[in-house]
Formats: sequence, C-alpha cells, structure tokens
Amino acid sequence: APVTARWPVMSTVAELSLPVGATNLPRLQPIVAGCFDAVENRLSFFRETSDIARINRQAGTGIPVAVAAGTADVLAQALSVARESGGAFDPTVAPLMRLWGFRGGVTNLARPAHEALGGTLALVDWRQVTLVVTAAPPHAAVHLARPGMELDLGGIAKGYAVDQAYDALLREGCSVFLVNLAGNMRGRGAPAAGRRGWRIGIRDPLQVQAGAWLGTLTLEDGEALATSGNYERFVVVEGERVPHIIDPRDGQPARGLISVTVLAGSALEADALSTALFVLGVDQRRTVLRAHPGCGAVYLTDTRPPRLRVTPELHGRFRPAPGWKTAVEW
Ligand code: AMP
Ligand code: MG
Repeated sequence: APVTARWPVMSTVAELSLPVGATNLPRLQPIVAGCFDAVENRLSFFRETSDIARINRQAGTGIPVAVAAGTADVLAQALSVARESGGAFDPTVAPLMRLWGFRGGVTNLARPAHEALGGTLALVDWRQVTLVVTAAPPHAAVHLARPGMELDLGGIAKGYAVDQAYDALLREGCSVFLVNLAGNMRGRGAPAAGRRGWRIGIRDPLQVQAGAWLGTLTLEDGEALATSGNYERFVVVEGERVPHIIDPRDGQPARGLISVTVLAGSALEADALSTALFVLGVDQRRTVLRAHPGCGAVYLTDTRPPRLRVTPELHGRFRPAPGWKTAVEW
C-alpha cells in the first residue's frame, strides 16, 4: 500500500500519500504542511491578520485593502464561479452563515425571522465586491461596498491550498503523489505499476448499501476531486439539520442533495464547483458545467430512496460500488 502522512490542519485532516516504498515522506510532508499553513494565514475567516479578515473590517469604508497576489487570484476565480452559477456560489455568503448559526453565531436557534433574512440577503452579493489588479504595487486591492458585508472563501480555499501543495511537490521533482485536504484531492502519477492513476473511493455518507463506498474514480494526469455534502458539518435549527451550504438566492439552506463529488483539472475548480453544484442541484447544473469543459459530477440525491446520478463526462470512469449499479442514471 502507499505510504501516507496524516496531520490536523484548518480544523480538519490533511494527508500526503506516496507510492509503496517511498522514503521521502518525512522531507515532503513539511513542504505540504507549509503550503496549507500559508494559505490559512492568508485566507482564514477567523485569523485577524488574514487578507480576508482585513478586507472584512474595511467593508463599506471606501478604503481598498491591499492583498497578496494569491488572494486576488482565488477571489477572481470565486467571482467567476459566482457569475457562472448565477450567484448560487457566492463568496460573500458569510452574513447568511452567521444568521443560520455558523461562523461563531448561536447554535440551535430558531429559524431566522423574515425581516432578518431580508436584511442579511442584501449583504450577500458578489457584484458588490471590487477587485482591482494593477501592474504597480500593491498589485491587488479589494473592497466590499456595504458595511456588514463579509468575504468567506470556505467554499474554495481548501482546493486552492491543495493546488499550492501540488505545485510545490512538482517543484521538488516529485512525480507520484496524492494530496488530500478534507476530501479535496489532487493526484499525480500512479501509485503502482499497471494503474492509470490514484484510485479514490467516494464515501457513502448513508451506508444504506453494504460497504462504505458509493464507488470509485481514478485520478489521472493531475486531476482533482472534491465533495460537498450535508452530512458532516451542520447546525440544528428547530430540530432540523441545517447543512453548512446556504443558497444565497433565497437565504435558505441548500436542499435536494446529500452529496456531490466533482472531478476537475484543478483542486480549486473541483472545490468551487462542488459547492456551486450542491446549491444548484441536479437540474440547474448545466450553465456551470458548460463553463468548465471536462468537469463532471456524481450526485447523491436526498430522496427516498437516494439515487446516484452521474454526468456524461464521468460515464465509464465512475465505477459504482455493488448495490449502487442499478441506481446510476444518465
Ligand atoms: P464546501 O465544503 O467546499 O462545499 O464549502 C462549504 C463552505 O463554503 C461553507 O462552510 C461556507 O464557508 C462556504 N459556503 C456556504 N454556502 C456557500 C455558497 N452558497 N457559496 C459559496 N460558499 C459557500
Ligand atoms: Mg467547495
């Protein structure tokens, strides 16, 4: 089996896997850990000195905040996915997260009142983010139009962090590896002779069928995988589980899916798209996927019984686990 280092970061778990017999894990693990720490320092919602916290403190003041080039790059990509998804993905979702009890809000609260929801929705609008990139220093600056607006890159930052680690490992001359940050994965090469890449099991969050997997996908040529779901991180509101993904278009928790897994060319793309597709559901996926040729998704619908649905890009590549085979559609 491949050798794997596993460590805690960003309130979750990171992993670096290398092929059987690799001896350079102790040298490479700190490089990957360093990438994740650097991204967290820049993009964390909670760290007071992060670019994100600094931007949020100046919301509505008219003062643009100078940020690192990497921050500007992630934000620019977050804003593109916001545009492509008609605002289903929105990096200014934070005030809604708070309203529903996330992000240091109260837990087990009542459903938000209609007026509170309306006021908060007015603060969630990616079009009111100004990102100015210039040739001269400071190169990039960000401003949020209204007081109370807040950026939250939680739906995209882990994917970006995985891409940073991926690039760092390539610079180290590493040619076979798998990086995993809380289910945001990107692989290179194949861990054993005769394999096309890293074979990844996609977890069955329900375990309704025998076995813990929905199926498997093999990551080839630097491909990435990300999963968004309603089963791991949630709060309880009036006895109901509220997932940590909110639909910014109506302010309600996203409904209709248990999980969605996206295969993409980069981990950032997979991460942002999985969050976007979780909000959009099975039927509204097309505009987003059209803008990302080659990307595909595996959905587990929140229906009785749950159904597994696979977009055409992943037909023949996603291998459903026994018991799920008959449920695969498209
Ligand atoms: P993920 O696990 O990648 O799907 O990301 C979930 C995280 O993304 C949440 O914890 C929030 O920080 C953020 N988020 C929640 N809803 C949205 C949304 N509609 N658009 C963008 N980010 C969101
Ligand atoms: Mg995501």
